[in-house]
Amino acid sequence: MALLSDRYKNDGIATIDLSDIQRKYIDIFRKKCKTGEYKFRKCECECGNGDFEVIAEKDRYGLPVTTVICRNCGLIMTNPCLDDASNSAFYDNEYHYIYRAEENPSEEKFFGRKSDAVNFIIPFIQNHGGPKCGTVLEIGCADGGNVAAFAECGYTASGIDLSHKYVEYGKGKGLDLYCNDSSSFAENNRKYDLIVINHVLEHFTDLEKELSTIKSLMAPEGYLFVGVPGVKDLTFGAYNGDFLRMLQNAHIFNFTKNSLCTVMNRYGFSCNFCTERIRGLFKIDSSSPSFKNEYEDTMRYLKKVEVAAGDILALIIARATDKLASYNPGEVILYGTTAELSALTQLISDLSPIRGFFYSEKKKPEDIITYIKSLIPSQLPKCLMLIDNGNDSELKEQFTREDLAGGIEVFSIYSELT
Ligand SMILES: [Zn+2]
Repeated sequence: MALLSDRYKNDGIATIDLSDIQRKYIDIFRKKCKTGEYKFRKCECECGNGDFEVIAEKDRYGLPVTTVICRNCGLIMTNPCLDDASNSAFYDNEYHYIYRAEENPSEEKFFGRKSDAVNFIIPFIQNHGGPKCGTVLEIGCADGGNVAAFAECGYTASGIDLSHKYVEYGKGKGLDLYCNDSSSFAENNRKYDLIVINHVLEHFTDLEKELSTIKSLMAPEGYLFVGVPGVKDLTFGAYNGDFLRMLQNAHIFNFTKNSLCTVMNRYGFSCNFCTERIRGLFKIDSSSPSFKNEYEDTMRYLKKVEVAAGDILALIIARATDKLASYNPGEVILYGTTAELSALTQLISDLSPIRGFFYSEKKKPEDIITYIKSLIPSQLPKCLMLIDNGNDSELKEQFTREDLAGGIEVFSIYSELT
């Protein structure tokens, strides 16, 4: 047995800060596991030929969760996982308190979801060949924030979720939501031009069954949008670059772009476009599945990430300082809106190559020279240092070709970490 490092030993210590509510429900969950009220079952690998290597014995909450990687395909799974009865009981009783820390719908969460869909999910779908209008169904829609965004962008949008409380909240906003599971809902025989499952697929315990239900809800030429956490998004800053923070008992799978596409392929979907973040757009396609074992590649990646784990900010500042050495004062503009950007503002001074940064209206820090994005053409720097934790292709799409013409060097801090 070779864990990624000693940090992954089952010592009961949480990696993230916990609230009192989380602590209380983590204890309850732990007790139920100990007394046998919650039972575990061994899972088969999706490749049908699982040869598992244990890489972690605990999750970010300090819960005894075993994470394995399959030597035959590279898929990372929680194994054993809760059996079906225990899994439903867990979602009914502890999940919301442990995972979301608070369990009531709120305006903040609703509008957060909505703005994420307007700014990222919908442009992603439209820019990569997905439908620009038509019918949309979101499975696992929670309060309907995404559904509201699709409706506002001209789609006929509906959503289903198992949480009565969240569905009622969204319905109160006039949205077409149903408290239902996908297989009962599929009995209506309605077909959709687009199905959305955002941060849902990684929770499925039976991918074959769930994906077959989803297929039955899709129009023959329909699309499926899948958003899941991406293992290889760690070096773009996800989970502060710490794989241990990514692990949680409710996630059955931890995908890379390739491992997701391989699994989707096996169950009759082809990938139109997918990023490591992970956002992917899929179509129904029954041609023979392709297969690539990415065990070696994924293990190499995880070991590399493990070296920097937990101190990604320091690493980013070191990389940026290196890069800035080759520029004169005022020749560089930063672009990004995340926490990493605030850390980098400490590098700004009169003599610094950093002239300022472009900002999104949402999070404009004070006392820093800023340029709104529309001014980019008149404020062309020599180097645009990209800090945003998206991946390259997504970032570059945020600028027009003309913005980047004229020999500006685009330097993406996170890609430098990979
Ligand atoms: Zn496998």
